[in-house]
Amino acid sequence: MDVDAPPIIPLEIRRPTGTYRLSDFDIHRTLGTGSFGRVHLVRSKHNLRFYAIKVLSKEKIVRMKQVSHTRNEQMMLQAVQHPFIINLWGTFQDSTNLYMVMDFVPGGELFTLLRRSNRFPDPVAKFYAAEVALALNYLHNLDIIYRDLKPENILLNFDGHIKIADFGFAKYCNNTAWTLCGTPDYLAPEIIGNARYNKSVDWYALGVLIYEMLSGLPPFHEPDASPVVLYEKIAQGPTCIRWPAFNTNATDLILKFMERDPSKRYGNLRHGAGDVFAHPWFREVDWERLKNREITAPYLPRISGAGDASAFEKYPEDNIATAAYGVSSADEFGDMFPDFEYTSHGL
Ligand code: AMP
Repeated sequence: MDVDAPPIIPLEIRRPTGTYRLSDFDIHRTLGTGSFGRVHLVRSKHNLRFYAIKVLSKEKIVRMKQVSHTRNEQMMLQAVQHPFIINLWGTFQDSTNLYMVMDFVPGGELFTLLRRSNRFPDPVAKFYAAEVALALNYLHNLDIIYRDLKPENILLNFDGHIKIADFGFAKYCNNTAWTLCGTPDYLAPEIIGNARYNKSVDWYALGVLIYEMLSGLPPFHEPDASPVVLYEKIAQGPTCIRWPAFNTNATDLILKFMERDPSKRYGNLRHGAGDVFAHPWFREVDWERLKNREITAPYLPRISGAGDASAFEKYPEDNIATAAYGVSSADEFGDMFPDFEYTSHGL
């Protein structure tokens, strides 16, 4: 049994996507791996453009009870269209795998840039935080909770602007949810406490992200600490953190996001995201120009041409698994993913 309720999404926020099949693409190197499969750089045989295809094993998704999360991911990505969120072109399935065709985002993960830089100067952290805030506000206005904000899931486009990826935990939710999911360092105390929670968990995570960008590590991080120790600290709240000397406005905003009581948390008060946009740390941000990508990004990825994936870590390739993509075999789980079209017959 999957722990989450089956995904329901209002028709008015769906947008049409194209029909694709595996034989439309040449598969290149791996860009990233996840629990159920991997993301490949691919090239369209028709328009010669590069894309990223996320391949997910149906058997693994079912075994790890992630059917509704996966269906949510497809539906949420199909519903959204925003300059700072990854674009999904279409999805399909064969007997073994699900496939999601996305834009290839060549600048790599914000995580990689942050670890290489150790920490970001205040204006750099502010730039990325402001773009994330716009994306979260957009999702929340569609009643989507993202639930997995962290530097690994923020990709950098060729122009240095962000693209949020991985909607594996995103959920359409116009009131509260209770599934325990996300990444330990970024979990809000109410998620850990198994209480019902709402969109404000994403604002909490943005507080953690700003802290991590400014200091280099998440606030409750301790090498080799067990999850129990981490969860105890998160439950105690940010006052038990050793605070580096951040800009005072940055500290103030982080504390307002990491407020333990969701009813007092910034982003979740009477003025919603308006309070976030009006906070003094963001004073100089021109939100309209930022949304239109008119503000020059602080870091421009070095990309030698279309299809250059050198910003991504190298992963060992699994040629046996890749060779099996599209091969017909018994299909036990096909009816569990009705939104992924069968298009791979007759390759
Ligand atoms: P995910 O399972 O969606 O988190 O994807 C795993 C990793 O693959 C990500 O952390 C990225 O490094 C990479 N990745 C995912 N989607 C894309 C994309 N559209 N373009 C480039 N890399 C991607």
